[in-house]
Amino acid sequence: MHDRRRLIEDRITRVLTERIRPAVHRPVAPLQVEVRHVGGGQGEPVPPVEAIGASYEPGAVGQPWGPAWGTTWFHLTGAVPPAADDGPHEVVIDLGWSPHSPGFQAEGLAYRPDGSVVKGLNPMNGWIPVEPGTEVDLYVEAAANPLVLQPHPFLPTGLGEKATAGDRPLYRLARAEICVRDTQVWELAADLDVLDGLMRELPADDGWRAELLLGIERALDRLDLGDVSATASDARAELAALLARRGADTAHRVSAVGHAHIDSAWLWPVRETVRKVARTVANVTQLLDDHPGLIYAMSSAQQYEWLEKHRPEVFERLKQHVATGRFVPTGGMWVESDTNMVGGEAMARQFLLGQRYFREKFGVTCREVWLPDSFGYSAALPQIVRQAGCTHFLTQKISWNQQNVFPHHTFRWEGIDGTRVFTHFPPVDTYTAELTGRELAHAASNFRDKGATNRSLVPFGYGDGGGGPTREMLQRAARTADLAGSPRVTIESPAQFFAAAEADYPDAPVWVGELYLELHRGTYTSQARTKEGNRRCEHLLREAELWATTAAVRGLADYPADQLTRLWKVVLLQQFHDILPGSSIAWVHREAAENYAAVEAELEELITARLRLLAGSGDAEIAVNATPFDDDSLPSLGAGPVAPAGPAVVVERRNGGVLLTSEVLQVTLDGHGLVVSMVDLSSGRDVIPTGERANLLQLHQDFPNKWDAWDLDEFYRNTVRDLDDVADLQVDVRDDGAAVVTVTRGFGGSSAIQTMTLRPGARQLDCAVDVDWHERETVLKVALPIDVHATDAAYETQFGHLRRPTHTNTSWDAARFEVCAHRFVHVAEPGFGVAVANSATYGHEVTRHEASRGGTFSTVRLSLLRAPRFPDPETDQGRHHRRYALVVAPEVTDAVRAGYRINLPHRRLTGAPIEPLLQVSGGGAVIEAVKLAEDGSGDVIVRLYEPAGARTRVTLEPTFPVREVTQVDLLEDPMEPDGLEAADGSITLRLRPFQLATLRLRR
Ligand SMILES: [Zn+2]
Repeated sequence: MHDRRRLIEDRITRVLTERIRPAVHRPVAPLQVEVRHVGGGQGEPVPPVEAIGASYEPGAVGQPWGPAWGTTWFHLTGAVPPAADDGPHEVVIDLGWSPHSPGFQAEGLAYRPDGSVVKGLNPMNGWIPVEPGTEVDLYVEAAANPLVLQPHPFLPTGLGEKATAGDRPLYRLARAEICVRDTQVWELAADLDVLDGLMRELPADDGWRAELLLGIERALDRLDLGDVSATASDARAELAALLARRGADTAHRVSAVGHAHIDSAWLWPVRETVRKVARTVANVTQLLDDHPGLIYAMSSAQQYEWLEKHRPEVFERLKQHVATGRFVPTGGMWVESDTNMVGGEAMARQFLLGQRYFREKFGVTCREVWLPDSFGYSAALPQIVRQAGCTHFLTQKISWNQQNVFPHHTFRWEGIDGTRVFTHFPPVDTYTAELTGRELAHAASNFRDKGATNRSLVPFGYGDGGGGPTREMLQRAARTADLAGSPRVTIESPAQFFAAAEADYPDAPVWVGELYLELHRGTYTSQARTKEGNRRCEHLLREAELWATTAAVRGLADYPADQLTRLWKVVLLQQFHDILPGSSIAWVHREAAENYAAVEAELEELITARLRLLAGSGDAEIAVNATPFDDDSLPSLGAGPVAPAGPAVVVERRNGGVLLTSEVLQVTLDGHGLVVSMVDLSSGRDVIPTGERANLLQLHQDFPNKWDAWDLDEFYRNTVRDLDDVADLQVDVRDDGAAVVTVTRGFGGSSAIQTMTLRPGARQLDCAVDVDWHERETVLKVALPIDVHATDAAYETQFGHLRRPTHTNTSWDAARFEVCAHRFVHVAEPGFGVAVANSATYGHEVTRHEASRGGTFSTVRLSLLRAPRFPDPETDQGRHHRRYALVVAPEVTDAVRAGYRINLPHRRLTGAPIEPLLQVSGGGAVIEAVKLAEDGSGDVIVRLYEPAGARTRVTLEPTFPVREVTQVDLLEDPMEPDGLEAADGSITLRLRPFQLATLRLRR
């Protein structure tokens, strides 16, 4: 037979697109349109009851509307004709959409005159059901969200901020009329869509493919293109035999989970996400009503809380479906957060607040972590998620790797402490599947664990900006449940999938360590103010809880539980995977900065007030130590007299440079203000390699191929400009005996003032830089060469650290040329090591270099600032302050201490010393959080971890009467004791390497 594939395939495409799909909705009656514009570009949405009750002006189809970010209300009225034989009546709306990218452009929500919600509207879902013989009276709240990413992606645009978005109408009302949805035409479109989609994925020489081709051709022959409606059922009759062909027992099993990925902010502000959630859930609940087979999973307690507050009647609809098990809360987190940069305690709170919400509202504890889109997954997560009640983990983001293909889709993931969690990456490689033939075939062929298991999960539904599943996707699911040549699709919950997957594959392979995303490496640095606000607020929350708990236990003040929860929620929301990573529009980051400032102010006030109560009156100066380490004779978690300063640092000018000498360090700066030597006097070791210069600022051109705010592409390293010109160099000795060197440098339109401070007795050089940053598409790094020959470096993550090689032996190592660390990086040889601690930096790299005297040295570089121009064209312009320290740290524990210390500076006040609420002796464990229990019982919760990767045994001594000690998980639920030995008032804990332990102390 001649090969007629191309001819027939093109015929299918054209007939389906130009004749069948347009015939689905047959107009039967017009609608009258009235319109009300709210505020325009500078206006903000108003409550529906207010908008519905306002006056409207005459409008019409074709009229322009919507300056960017404005809201326009359309009032639609008309009479629905009597029932039709061929299908139900629907209002069809087109707000002026481009036929793609639902959730990235204009959207609508339809209301009844009483303000209750009907459903959401987007380019793929523009219909509203109406009853025959009734009057239409609908209000549509149309949001003029601009298309920020398309058509030419990644060009700088002012659309991401109200003030620069312009006031030109972006849209034109294109359609608003009453139609009949022709059932046979609609079903024919689905039949053809599924069979055609399947056919094109089969091998060219496959017999079933050829049968499909000829069968579809026969169906098209039965269709009268002049009267599709009358002949659709004839065409369907031809296709019925093809659709009835059963699938093979060996076919790949797809667990399809209805879903809408809704970014809590991204190319839209948080306030728009509140409305996005309402639109999506309104659609989903209606779909659940109409289609009993649908199961839908939604993550992020924050999004449920928004809905509960803003659209309570939609929340009630959601709640009814949760009760039947078809609307499935999943993920267990407050938001789908970043997991690289989020601090340990904050990561715990993402789950604590998330799970608490799901329990309170629905009586549900989520067992599956749902993070399809976050930019890599920290090696600390397995332990955290297991302690938060979760048993399974899902993402697909690692499929975005630039270099290496991850070897598994189903595996057990082992974290830094050895905890394992059963993990699945959907091989469909998307979290916004539409269940097309192409996607299903890709899931099956791409699945890397085939042979051992034959089952994968496919999240389906429009997403990023919401939308969710459509009835057309459900048509595809129904037809592929058991169809020859196709994977077998079953709509199921994540829990059903994981139970089957784990039973199928109990000995799934193990992957150890982080799930590093070989992409989006710029997100550790972009939007520096957001990073700084996060780090600062995480530590202020620690201080506030510690002192509020101490004051509450001593009966000095009530515990401000509600206030702390409210502030935590702000910080947790802003850890969302496009906010903390710096990949949102300007509007989002402006608001984030404002929110952090408000949280900081409130926490500072709370901390000051509690410390005042604890210190009492008296005029002795005391220093407060909120770190978990005794320090300068100050007790950890307490306050004591200010220690007298040691002998002042001696300053000498030498060879155009400066020599600083304390009792422990001797630091030499050259005439460029760069550190050329830093001798640790006790060991005699010079931290700086011979001939190298440390604390050197460096600029690189930074213009990635795409995803500007996200990506730092490897070729950025090819060119570098050292900033070693000195405009001014000053040396001062402060009253406390510290020597301070200040170096001013100018470059381009920018300037940097670097300070280096050597304090008496301190085994570290404190560095700060004030940058007035006006560069574009440039990354600013600071280089610290360290005379240590190290195969790997330790990078702090949540509740511990992980080691990454300093070499590039394999493509996996080479791809990690920019990585995330929290408060420190540590490089060491046995007996000697150096830490670089920081107060707000996450992007790091450690490279190895041949040393002039043999061996290698290690260069630690911190990424201080970037200046990408998409999606925020003004990213990081202006003033920034960054602090870091070069610390002699023989052991990793010394690095841990330095990291806490730089983020929790001692506070000074007057009064009496504050006795710590509890003391830890025996060393080796770190207290991460002290708080009162979430349940309001007044129990004290203490969270500790082992930070060095060693086994340890510590004793806790509370300074208040304790009736009972129990070990609890992160949800503060009792658990089998795992290391706790409590007897006669003494509390002993045996901890494994990096073990996290939480104790509940009943007073
Ligand atoms: Zn996302």
